[in-house]
Amino acid sequence: MTTVAAYAAPAAKAPLERTTIERRAVREHDVLIDIKFTGVCHTDVSQAREGWGKAFFPMVPGHEIAGVVSEVGSGVTKYKVGDRVGVGCLVDSCRECDNCEAGLEQMCTNGGMTSTYNAIGRDGEVTYGGYSQKIVVDENYVVRIPDGLSLDVAAPLLCAGITMYSPLKQWGAGPGKKVAILGLGGLGHIGVKIAHVMGAEVTVLSQSLRKKDDGLRLGADHYYATSDPATFQELAGSFDLIVSTVSAPLNFDAYLSLLKMPGALVNVGVPEESIALNLFSLIYGNKTLAGSAMGGIAETQEMLDFCAEHGLGAEIELIAASEINEAFTRMEASDVRYRFVIDNATI
Ligand code: NAP
Ligand code: ZN
Ligand code: ZN
Repeated sequence: MTTVAAYAAPAAKAPLERTTIERRAVREHDVLIDIKFTGVCHTDVSQAREGWGKAFFPMVPGHEIAGVVSEVGSGVTKYKVGDRVGVGCLVDSCRECDNCEAGLEQMCTNGGMTSTYNAIGRDGEVTYGGYSQKIVVDENYVVRIPDGLSLDVAAPLLCAGITMYSPLKQWGAGPGKKVAILGLGGLGHIGVKIAHVMGAEVTVLSQSLRKKDDGLRLGADHYYATSDPATFQELAGSFDLIVSTVSAPLNFDAYLSLLKMPGALVNVGVPEESIALNLFSLIYGNKTLAGSAMGGIAETQEMLDFCAEHGLGAEIELIAASEINEAFTRMEASDVRYRFVIDNATI
Protein backbone atom coordinates (compact mmCIF):
# COMPACT_ATOMS: atom_id res chain seq x y z
CA MET A 1 0.00 0.00 0.00
CA THR A 2 1.09 3.53 -0.74
CA THR A 3 -0.31 6.64 0.94
CA VAL A 4 -0.96 9.46 -1.51
CA ALA A 5 -2.42 12.96 -1.19
CA ALA A 6 -5.83 13.58 -2.73
CA TYR A 7 -8.77 15.96 -2.81
CA ALA A 8 -11.98 14.39 -1.53
CA ALA A 9 -15.56 15.32 -0.74
CA PRO A 10 -15.96 14.13 2.87
CA ALA A 11 -19.77 14.01 2.56
CA ALA A 12 -22.51 14.77 0.03
CA LYS A 13 -22.56 18.45 -0.95
CA ALA A 14 -19.58 19.20 1.34
CA PRO A 15 -16.65 21.14 -0.15
CA LEU A 16 -13.72 19.04 -1.32
CA GLU A 17 -10.64 19.16 0.89
CA ARG A 18 -7.10 17.84 0.90
CA THR A 19 -6.67 14.43 2.49
CA THR A 20 -4.73 11.20 2.03
CA ILE A 21 -5.83 7.83 0.62
CA GLU A 22 -4.24 4.41 0.25
CA ARG A 23 -3.40 2.94 -3.14
CA ARG A 24 -3.04 -0.85 -3.39
CA ALA A 25 0.35 -2.43 -3.91
CA VAL A 26 1.06 -3.06 -7.62
CA ARG A 27 -0.22 -6.52 -8.60
CA GLU A 28 0.99 -8.72 -11.45
CA HIS A 29 -1.00 -6.93 -14.17
CA ASP A 30 -1.13 -3.44 -12.62
CA VAL A 31 0.60 -0.24 -13.55
CA LEU A 32 1.28 2.58 -11.09
CA ILE A 33 0.64 5.96 -12.70
CA ASP A 34 1.97 9.32 -11.52
CA ILE A 35 -1.00 11.50 -12.36
CA LYS A 36 -0.01 14.75 -14.07
CA PHE A 37 -3.39 16.22 -15.04
CA THR A 38 -7.04 15.44 -14.34
CA GLY A 39 -10.02 16.92 -16.18
CA VAL A 40 -13.07 18.02 -14.20
CA CYS A 41 -16.23 16.47 -15.66
CA HIS A 42 -19.75 17.61 -14.76
CA THR A 43 -20.27 14.04 -13.59
CA ASP A 44 -17.77 14.79 -10.79
CA VAL A 45 -20.02 17.62 -9.64
CA SER A 46 -23.22 15.54 -9.82
CA GLN A 47 -21.68 12.60 -7.97
CA ALA A 48 -19.94 14.67 -5.27
CA ARG A 49 -23.28 16.41 -4.66
CA GLU A 50 -24.97 12.95 -4.57
CA GLY A 51 -27.30 14.17 -7.29
CA TRP A 52 -27.75 10.75 -8.90
CA GLY A 53 -28.47 8.72 -5.80
CA LYS A 54 -26.48 7.04 -3.03
CA ALA A 55 -22.74 7.64 -3.27
CA PHE A 56 -19.65 6.59 -1.32
CA PHE A 57 -17.86 9.13 0.90
CA PRO A 58 -15.22 10.27 1.25
CA MET A 59 -15.22 10.56 -2.57
CA VAL A 60 -12.15 11.31 -4.66
CA PRO A 61 -13.61 12.23 -8.08
CA GLY A 62 -11.79 12.36 -11.39
CA HIS A 63 -12.07 10.09 -14.45
CA GLU A 64 -10.11 12.09 -17.00
CA ILE A 65 -6.64 11.05 -15.94
CA ALA A 66 -3.38 11.66 -17.81
CA GLY A 67 -0.02 10.67 -16.38
CA VAL A 68 3.19 8.69 -16.65
CA VAL A 69 3.81 5.07 -15.68
CA SER A 70 6.19 4.83 -12.72
CA GLU A 71 6.04 1.12 -11.88
CA VAL A 72 4.73 -2.03 -13.57
CA GLY A 73 3.74 -5.45 -12.23
CA SER A 74 5.71 -8.54 -13.21
CA GLY A 75 3.10 -9.66 -15.76
CA VAL A 76 2.56 -6.33 -17.51
CA THR A 77 3.20 -6.48 -21.25
CA LYS A 78 1.59 -3.34 -22.68
CA TYR A 79 3.36 -0.57 -20.75
CA LYS A 80 6.75 0.27 -19.30
CA VAL A 81 8.05 2.87 -16.88
CA GLY A 82 7.97 6.32 -18.52
CA ASP A 83 5.04 5.66 -20.87
CA ARG A 84 2.43 8.42 -21.21
CA VAL A 85 -0.95 6.93 -20.39
CA GLY A 86 -4.56 7.74 -19.61
CA VAL A 87 -7.38 6.30 -17.54
CA GLY A 88 -11.01 7.12 -18.20
CA CYS A 89 -14.34 6.23 -16.59
CA LEU A 90 -13.73 2.54 -15.85
CA VAL A 91 -10.96 0.56 -14.23
CA ASP A 92 -12.35 -2.99 -14.39
CA SER A 93 -15.15 -5.23 -15.68
CA CYS A 94 -15.80 -9.00 -15.79
CA ARG A 95 -13.73 -9.53 -19.02
CA GLU A 96 -15.89 -12.55 -19.96
CA CYS A 97 -19.41 -11.44 -20.91
CA ASP A 98 -20.40 -10.83 -24.53
CA ASN A 99 -20.04 -7.07 -24.14
CA CYS A 100 -16.61 -7.26 -22.50
CA GLU A 101 -15.47 -9.64 -25.25
CA ALA A 102 -16.79 -7.18 -27.85
CA GLY A 103 -14.85 -4.25 -26.33
CA LEU A 104 -17.97 -2.74 -24.76
CA GLU A 105 -16.65 -3.00 -21.20
CA GLN A 106 -18.71 0.03 -20.18
CA MET A 107 -21.77 -2.19 -20.67
CA CYS A 108 -20.45 -5.26 -18.84
CA THR A 109 -23.47 -7.48 -18.12
CA ASN A 110 -21.77 -9.42 -15.36
CA GLY A 111 -21.73 -7.09 -12.39
CA GLY A 112 -21.29 -3.95 -14.48
CA MET A 113 -18.18 -1.92 -15.11
CA THR A 114 -16.15 -0.78 -12.12
CA SER A 115 -16.19 3.01 -12.22
CA THR A 116 -12.90 4.81 -11.66
CA TYR A 117 -14.34 6.37 -8.50
CA ASN A 118 -17.48 6.11 -6.37
CA ALA A 119 -17.71 2.34 -6.88
CA ILE A 120 -16.84 -0.89 -5.07
CA GLY A 121 -14.13 -2.69 -7.02
CA ARG A 122 -14.11 -6.42 -7.65
CA ASP A 123 -11.63 -6.69 -4.74
CA GLY A 124 -14.26 -5.17 -2.41
CA GLU A 125 -12.43 -1.85 -2.04
CA VAL A 126 -13.95 1.56 -2.83
CA THR A 127 -12.41 3.15 -5.93
CA TYR A 128 -10.84 6.60 -5.81
CA GLY A 129 -10.30 8.77 -8.89
CA GLY A 130 -7.86 11.21 -10.38
CA TYR A 131 -7.94 14.08 -7.90
CA SER A 132 -4.90 12.40 -6.36
CA GLN A 133 -1.17 12.04 -6.90
CA LYS A 134 -1.06 8.42 -8.09
CA ILE A 135 -3.39 5.61 -9.16
CA VAL A 136 -2.95 1.85 -9.61
CA VAL A 137 -4.87 0.35 -12.55
CA ASP A 138 -4.88 -3.00 -14.37
CA GLU A 139 -3.06 -2.51 -17.68
CA ASN A 140 -6.10 -3.65 -19.65
CA TYR A 141 -7.99 -0.54 -18.53
CA VAL A 142 -5.19 1.88 -19.36
CA VAL A 143 -4.75 3.60 -22.74
CA ARG A 144 -1.73 5.14 -24.41
CA ILE A 145 -1.60 8.90 -24.99
CA PRO A 146 0.04 9.47 -28.37
CA ASP A 147 3.20 11.59 -28.45
CA GLY A 148 1.50 14.33 -30.45
CA LEU A 149 -0.90 15.16 -27.62
CA SER A 150 0.12 17.16 -24.54
CA LEU A 151 -1.03 15.48 -21.34
CA ASP A 152 -3.00 18.53 -20.13
CA VAL A 153 -5.21 18.87 -23.21
CA ALA A 154 -5.43 15.09 -23.58
CA ALA A 155 -6.82 14.48 -20.08
CA PRO A 156 -10.40 15.62 -20.90
CA LEU A 157 -10.47 13.30 -23.89
CA LEU A 158 -10.56 10.31 -21.50
CA CYS A 159 -14.22 11.00 -20.71
CA ALA A 160 -15.50 13.99 -22.69
CA GLY A 161 -13.64 12.91 -25.84
CA ILE A 162 -14.83 9.32 -25.93
CA THR A 163 -18.36 10.24 -24.83
CA MET A 164 -18.69 12.41 -27.95
CA TYR A 165 -16.60 10.37 -30.40
CA SER A 166 -18.53 7.16 -29.82
CA PRO A 167 -22.08 8.41 -30.64
CA LEU A 168 -20.85 10.70 -33.44
CA LYS A 169 -19.23 7.70 -35.10
CA GLN A 170 -22.05 5.27 -34.35
CA TRP A 171 -24.72 7.64 -35.71
CA GLY A 172 -22.81 8.50 -38.86
CA ALA A 173 -21.55 12.07 -38.40
CA GLY A 174 -19.66 12.80 -41.62
CA PRO A 175 -19.81 14.48 -45.02
CA GLY A 176 -23.34 15.41 -46.07
CA LYS A 177 -24.70 15.14 -42.52
CA LYS A 178 -26.08 18.04 -40.50
CA VAL A 179 -25.13 17.58 -36.87
CA ALA A 180 -26.15 19.77 -33.93
CA ILE A 181 -24.26 19.81 -30.67
CA LEU A 182 -26.49 20.94 -27.83
CA GLY A 183 -24.59 22.69 -24.99
CA LEU A 184 -21.09 24.14 -25.46
CA GLY A 185 -19.38 22.95 -22.29
CA GLY A 186 -16.70 20.30 -21.73
CA LEU A 187 -18.35 17.57 -23.78
CA GLY A 188 -19.93 19.93 -26.28
CA HIS A 189 -16.78 21.77 -27.34
CA ILE A 190 -14.91 18.53 -28.01
CA GLY A 191 -17.96 17.23 -29.86
CA VAL A 192 -17.85 20.26 -32.14
CA LYS A 193 -14.17 19.66 -32.92
CA ILE A 194 -14.64 15.95 -33.58
CA ALA A 195 -17.81 16.31 -35.69
CA HIS A 196 -16.10 19.01 -37.77
CA VAL A 197 -13.06 16.81 -38.44
CA MET A 198 -15.38 13.90 -39.29
CA GLY A 199 -16.71 16.15 -42.08
CA ALA A 200 -20.20 16.97 -40.82
CA GLU A 201 -21.87 20.37 -41.11
CA VAL A 202 -21.92 21.38 -37.45
CA THR A 203 -24.34 23.65 -35.61
CA VAL A 204 -23.98 24.67 -31.98
CA LEU A 205 -27.18 25.10 -29.99
CA SER A 206 -26.27 27.07 -26.88
CA GLN A 207 -28.39 28.95 -24.36
CA SER A 208 -27.09 32.30 -25.64
CA LEU A 209 -24.78 33.74 -28.30
CA ARG A 210 -22.14 34.57 -25.64
CA LYS A 211 -19.72 31.90 -26.89
CA LYS A 212 -20.47 32.23 -30.62
CA ASP A 213 -16.96 33.33 -31.65
CA ASP A 214 -15.46 30.39 -29.80
CA GLY A 215 -17.93 27.94 -31.31
CA LEU A 216 -17.11 29.03 -34.84
CA ARG A 217 -13.37 28.93 -34.09
CA LEU A 218 -13.72 25.37 -32.75
CA GLY A 219 -15.19 24.25 -36.07
CA ALA A 220 -18.93 24.98 -36.02
CA ASP A 221 -20.51 26.21 -39.24
CA HIS A 222 -23.53 27.76 -37.50
CA TYR A 223 -24.39 28.90 -33.99
CA TYR A 224 -27.86 29.54 -32.52
CA ALA A 225 -29.27 30.57 -29.16
CA THR A 226 -31.92 28.23 -27.74
CA SER A 227 -33.26 31.09 -25.60
CA ASP A 228 -34.58 32.67 -28.82
CA PRO A 229 -37.90 31.08 -29.92
CA ALA A 230 -37.08 32.02 -33.54
CA THR A 231 -34.29 29.40 -33.46
CA PHE A 232 -36.85 26.61 -33.24
CA GLN A 233 -38.85 27.98 -36.18
CA GLU A 234 -35.82 28.57 -38.37
CA LEU A 235 -34.21 25.18 -37.67
CA ALA A 236 -37.34 22.98 -37.70
CA GLY A 237 -36.63 19.70 -39.54
CA SER A 238 -32.93 20.53 -40.08
CA PHE A 239 -30.70 17.92 -38.49
CA ASP A 240 -29.75 14.33 -39.19
CA LEU A 241 -28.31 14.06 -35.71
CA ILE A 242 -28.45 16.06 -32.48
CA VAL A 243 -26.19 15.14 -29.57
CA SER A 244 -27.35 16.68 -26.31
CA THR A 245 -24.72 17.28 -23.66
CA VAL A 246 -26.98 19.33 -21.41
CA SER A 247 -26.77 18.57 -17.71
CA ALA A 248 -30.22 20.04 -16.95
CA PRO A 249 -33.71 18.84 -17.92
CA LEU A 250 -34.79 19.97 -21.41
CA ASN A 251 -37.97 20.23 -23.43
CA PHE A 252 -37.18 17.22 -25.63
CA ASP A 253 -40.31 17.71 -27.73
CA ALA A 254 -38.91 21.04 -28.90
CA TYR A 255 -35.50 19.57 -29.77
CA LEU A 256 -36.99 16.54 -31.54
CA SER A 257 -38.83 18.99 -33.81
CA LEU A 258 -35.42 20.11 -35.10
CA LEU A 259 -34.68 16.66 -36.55
CA LYS A 260 -35.20 15.68 -40.17
CA MET A 261 -37.66 12.86 -40.77
CA PRO A 262 -36.15 10.49 -39.80
CA GLY A 263 -33.33 11.70 -37.59
CA ALA A 264 -31.82 10.87 -34.22
CA LEU A 265 -31.33 12.75 -30.98
CA VAL A 266 -28.66 11.06 -28.88
CA ASN A 267 -28.59 12.15 -25.27
CA VAL A 268 -25.39 11.98 -23.25
CA GLY A 269 -26.18 14.67 -20.63
CA VAL A 270 -27.44 13.38 -17.30
CA PRO A 271 -29.85 15.73 -15.51
CA GLU A 272 -30.83 14.77 -11.98
CA GLU A 273 -34.54 14.91 -12.86
CA SER A 274 -36.69 12.72 -15.15
CA ILE A 275 -38.11 14.27 -18.31
CA ALA A 276 -41.58 14.30 -19.86
CA LEU A 277 -42.02 13.45 -23.53
CA ASN A 278 -44.98 13.56 -25.91
CA LEU A 279 -44.46 10.40 -27.95
CA PHE A 280 -45.91 12.03 -31.06
CA SER A 281 -42.59 13.88 -31.15
CA LEU A 282 -40.97 10.55 -32.06
CA ILE A 283 -43.75 8.81 -33.96
CA TYR A 284 -44.42 11.44 -36.60
CA GLY A 285 -41.20 11.31 -38.60
CA ASN A 286 -39.88 7.92 -37.41
CA LYS A 287 -37.43 9.66 -35.12
CA THR A 288 -35.04 8.09 -32.65
CA LEU A 289 -34.26 9.21 -29.12
CA ALA A 290 -31.19 7.33 -27.92
CA GLY A 291 -28.61 7.39 -25.15
CA SER A 292 -24.88 6.75 -25.10
CA ALA A 293 -22.45 6.03 -22.28
CA MET A 294 -18.74 6.75 -22.75
CA GLY A 295 -17.07 4.03 -24.87
CA GLY A 296 -15.02 0.87 -24.45
CA ILE A 297 -11.26 0.67 -23.95
CA ALA A 298 -10.35 -0.10 -27.57
CA GLU A 299 -12.58 2.69 -28.87
CA THR A 300 -11.06 5.09 -26.34
CA GLN A 301 -7.61 4.27 -27.76
CA GLU A 302 -9.00 4.74 -31.30
CA MET A 303 -10.40 8.15 -30.28
CA LEU A 304 -7.04 9.24 -28.80
CA ASP A 305 -5.22 8.19 -31.98
CA PHE A 306 -7.84 10.05 -34.06
CA CYS A 307 -7.41 13.20 -31.95
CA ALA A 308 -3.61 13.03 -32.19
CA GLU A 309 -3.78 12.53 -35.95
CA HIS A 310 -5.99 15.62 -36.33
CA GLY A 311 -4.33 17.75 -33.65
CA LEU A 312 -7.43 17.81 -31.43
CA GLY A 313 -7.20 18.47 -27.72
CA ALA A 314 -9.48 20.14 -25.20
CA GLU A 315 -9.54 23.90 -24.60
CA ILE A 316 -8.59 24.01 -20.96
CA GLU A 317 -8.40 26.28 -17.95
CA LEU A 318 -5.63 24.85 -15.78
CA ILE A 319 -6.38 25.11 -12.06
CA ALA A 320 -4.63 24.29 -8.79
CA ALA A 321 -6.31 21.51 -6.82
CA SER A 322 -7.25 24.05 -4.13
CA GLU A 323 -9.48 25.80 -6.70
CA ILE A 324 -11.68 22.75 -7.25
CA ASN A 325 -14.69 23.98 -5.25
CA GLU A 326 -14.80 27.22 -7.21
CA ALA A 327 -14.54 25.22 -10.44
CA PHE A 328 -17.55 23.08 -9.41
CA THR A 329 -19.59 26.21 -8.69
CA ARG A 330 -18.64 27.76 -12.02
CA MET A 331 -19.59 24.58 -13.89
CA GLU A 332 -23.01 24.63 -12.23
CA ALA A 333 -23.42 28.13 -13.68
CA SER A 334 -22.29 27.04 -17.22
CA ASP A 335 -19.22 29.26 -16.68
CA VAL A 336 -16.46 27.11 -18.14
CA ARG A 337 -14.33 27.58 -21.25
CA TYR A 338 -14.19 24.74 -21.83
CA ARG A 339 -12.73 22.24 -19.39
CA PHE A 340 -11.15 22.78 -16.00
CA VAL A 341 -8.05 20.63 -15.65
CA ILE A 342 -6.30 20.09 -12.33
CA ASP A 343 -2.52 20.37 -12.31
CA ASN A 344 -1.93 17.35 -10.06
CA ALA A 345 1.46 18.71 -8.98
CA THR A 346 -0.53 21.18 -6.83
CA ILE A 347 -2.13 18.43 -4.74
P1 NAP B 1 -20.47 21.16 -18.67
O1 NAP B 1 -19.07 21.42 -19.08
O2 NAP B 1 -20.99 21.78 -17.44
O3 NAP B 1 -21.40 21.55 -19.92
C1 NAP B 1 -22.79 21.39 -19.91
C2 NAP B 1 -23.38 22.45 -20.83
O4 NAP B 1 -24.80 22.26 -20.87
C3 NAP B 1 -23.19 23.85 -20.33
O5 NAP B 1 -21.96 24.41 -20.69
C4 NAP B 1 -24.34 24.59 -21.02
O6 NAP B 1 -23.96 24.90 -22.36
C5 NAP B 1 -25.42 23.51 -21.08
N1 NAP B 1 -26.40 23.74 -20.01
C6 NAP B 1 -26.19 23.71 -18.68
N2 NAP B 1 -27.32 24.00 -18.01
C7 NAP B 1 -28.28 24.19 -18.95
C8 NAP B 1 -29.66 24.51 -18.91
N3 NAP B 1 -30.30 24.70 -17.72
N4 NAP B 1 -30.33 24.64 -20.07
C9 NAP B 1 -29.70 24.46 -21.24
N5 NAP B 1 -28.39 24.17 -21.35
C10 NAP B 1 -27.70 24.04 -20.22
O7 NAP B 1 -20.73 19.59 -18.47
P2 NAP B 1 -19.99 18.36 -19.20
O8 NAP B 1 -18.84 17.92 -18.37
O9 NAP B 1 -19.82 18.65 -20.62
O10 NAP B 1 -21.11 17.22 -18.99
C11 NAP B 1 -22.39 17.38 -19.60
C12 NAP B 1 -23.35 16.32 -19.10
O11 NAP B 1 -22.95 15.05 -19.61
C13 NAP B 1 -23.38 16.14 -17.58
O12 NAP B 1 -24.71 15.86 -17.19
C14 NAP B 1 -22.49 14.92 -17.35
O13 NAP B 1 -22.81 14.27 -16.14
C15 NAP B 1 -22.85 14.11 -18.55
N6 NAP B 1 -21.86 13.10 -18.96
C16 NAP B 1 -22.34 11.97 -19.52
C17 NAP B 1 -21.48 11.01 -20.00
C18 NAP B 1 -22.00 9.79 -20.67
O14 NAP B 1 -21.27 8.82 -20.79
N7 NAP B 1 -23.24 9.78 -21.14
C19 NAP B 1 -20.09 11.21 -19.89
C20 NAP B 1 -19.64 12.40 -19.34
C21 NAP B 1 -20.53 13.34 -18.89
P3 NAP B 1 -24.29 26.37 -22.99
O15 NAP B 1 -23.70 27.37 -22.05
O16 NAP B 1 -23.63 26.31 -24.30
O17 NAP B 1 -25.78 26.48 -23.10
ZN1 ZN C 1 -17.02 12.31 -17.27
ZN1 ZN D 1 -18.35 -8.15 -18.65
